[in-house]
Amino acid sequence: MRIGYGYDVHRLCPGRPLILGGVEVPFEKGLDGHSDADVLIHALMDALLGAAALGDIGGIFPDSDPQYKGISSLELLSRVYIRISELGLKVWNLDCTIVAQAPILSPHIPDMKEKIMEVLHMPTDRVNIKATTEERLGFTGAGEGMAAHAVVLLHESSDG
Ligand code: MG
Repeated sequence: MRIGYGYDVHRLCPGRPLILGGVEVPFEKGLDGHSDADVLIHALMDALLGAAALGDIGGIFPDSDPQYKGISSLELLSRVYIRISELGLKVWNLDCTIVAQAPILSPHIPDMKEKIMEVLHMPTDRVNIKATTEERLGFTGAGEGMAAHAVVLLHESSDG
């Protein structure tokens, strides 16, 4: 078994869609970034890469590379899945937390889970996503940005 942890932050700005866990969430602002800025998937990818000792997403998908501009983070997640599969590793379970003052995310979490389970070929009872506010404290509380944390457990697959 191998454990991995990931953390990411993106700034909120007007004029961009809010993409979280591959789902477009209706909101007055979106996350700023080179890709679709999906903070949840970025934290998750860093957790997966960390568990596999493959570094981080900045090293694998550099934001100086124009091919990643505006790219769907779910597409990047599928590439991370291939990388860990090549090492004979599978995801046992994952647990993620989105930190955001607004909007209310609970109605969108089942769709996020669905997208992640599909890309990582996982059963529903081993994927957990939750959301919290920071009680109006700090940059998330002020609505300046969102953060996400992720932990994953990988195991060596018997079928290679
Ligand atoms: Mg990021």
